Amino acid sequence: MASTLPFDTRQLFIDGQWRDAASGETLTLENPSDGSALARIARGMSADIDAAVAAARRALDDGAWGRMSPTERGRVLSAMGRRVLEQVELLAQLEALDVGKPLKQGRADAIALARYLEFYGGAADKVHGETLPFQSGYTVLTLREPHGVTGHIVPWNYPMQIVGRSVGAALAMGNACVLKPAEEACLTVLAFARIAHEAGLPAGALNVVPGLGEEAGAALASHPGVAHLSFTGSVATGALVQAAAAKNTIPVTLELGGKSPQVVFADADLDAALPYLVNAGIQNAGQTCSAASRILVERSAYDAVLERMAARYRALRVGPALADLDVGPVISSRQHSIVSRYLELARDGASAGLRIAAQGEIVADAPSSGHYVRPTLVAGVPDTHVLAQEEIFGPVQVLMAFDSEADAVRIANGTPFGLVAGVWTRDGARQLRLARALKCGQVFINNYGAGGGVELPFGGVKRSGHGREKGFEALYGFSTLKTVAIQHG
Ligand code: NAD
Repeated sequence: MASTLPFDTRQLFIDGQWRDAASGETLTLENPSDGSALARIARGMSADIDAAVAAARRALDDGAWGRMSPTERGRVLSAMGRRVLEQVELLAQLEALDVGKPLKQGRADAIALARYLEFYGGAADKVHGETLPFQSGYTVLTLREPHGVTGHIVPWNYPMQIVGRSVGAALAMGNACVLKPAEEACLTVLAFARIAHEAGLPAGALNVVPGLGEEAGAALASHPGVAHLSFTGSVATGALVQAAAAKNTIPVTLELGGKSPQVVFADADLDAALPYLVNAGIQNAGQTCSAASRILVERSAYDAVLERMAARYRALRVGPALADLDVGPVISSRQHSIVSRYLELARDGASAGLRIAAQGEIVADAPSSGHYVRPTLVAGVPDTHVLAQEEIFGPVQVLMAFDSEADAVRIANGTPFGLVAGVWTRDGARQLRLARALKCGQVFINNYGAGGGVELPFGGVKRSGHGREKGFEALYGFSTLKTVAIQHG
């Protein structure tokens, strides 16, 4: 399989050059659709991170990148976006092999990556400081400046989208980036580095060091030459990264997990809601930070929603990513075991009122060595149950009934997370009350996710993290403000 890949995957990208890891060691990527060895990638370690941070620093201090005007930076980002669009099919194929993502979902991710680059390309010369009213005899102004070298640690579930939103915004503001992709899946990140280089991104502006979290990731998080960290991943690792950032007193953006609800009132347009209710739970086999893993339904509509969601679940087909069905495999045998343990809890939960309401089917020709999980809808889940509290990160949704608006808000806010929420109701006043009452970073009324919305600031509260990426807001996070006070009499 590795021989059919379009480029040599075994090297890391530093200072505009492809090179072996300093140790010469490599790691194996697995194809989750059949468990086979897919490719080898570099096993970057602290020496490689040192080299990458030094290259990024040089790009800022002495290189073409540091000398570029915001407009020129924007043009390079736009050119990168155009090249990504030319390679959507290749990127979707790589993502299917590497992440196990059905092709249509990989295509959507590649198009989103291009959209981030277009958006941030256009924004690069539109962020500016201000002049401030002050005492007479002074002129006071503010300057928006890059942090310097930014570190980006990304997970395996949406590499293209997450790289687009964090590296895109950081480059637009004139930072130089060191990117540590996930050891489970990083082929599209390597492909992205090639695209960036071909599109004219100067050497050192983007450096990519694959490797293990506890080696390359930890080295990047604690590196004294890094001025800002953007981390997307689990809560536990996010806490480690924040602790490492604290030692160097640098800012960190944490995009962590979720247990996001969709709240369905009895007056909702169920025909409109249904596709969103299910898709937001099974997309990428449920391995989505903003997955709508909890569906809260007003009691009078509960049976109708249950019946319609169950019918949709029974029609879901699970199989190899390249077969492009509804759902692909989960990323690894480890993830398969984690999700299977939650499904056992659902099976054993009858005494607590739990019931497996419906499951999708794994197609007969799916390789037995692939990591397939049947998408599962669990009904009657008490809001304090483990299945309603913990992030499962698999194609499992729990359905819960509520009796009043206050009850809905209490249940929706009643987990340690606060990333995203959806609300379905035709009542305009209720829409506004819920939008304010829900404790999370994004609320979607009568939709869920707004089609990705690169323009829309994204991030969490509570254990879902802090800081915002996406939209214009990210440009403020990836820059710092300097105040200049000039006394001229
Ligand atoms: P993870 O935390 O295990 O890994 C994420 C990244 O951190 C990987 O690149 C990994 O190599 C690196 N890492 C691991 N240990 C490290 C360490 N000690 N120091 C520095 N880096 C280290 O997360 P995961 O299991 O790969 O990803 C799934 C999690 O990510 C889920 O909880 C999911 O909700 C979350 N996620 C959040 C968002 C969001 O935007 N909020 C998006 C996608 C995924």
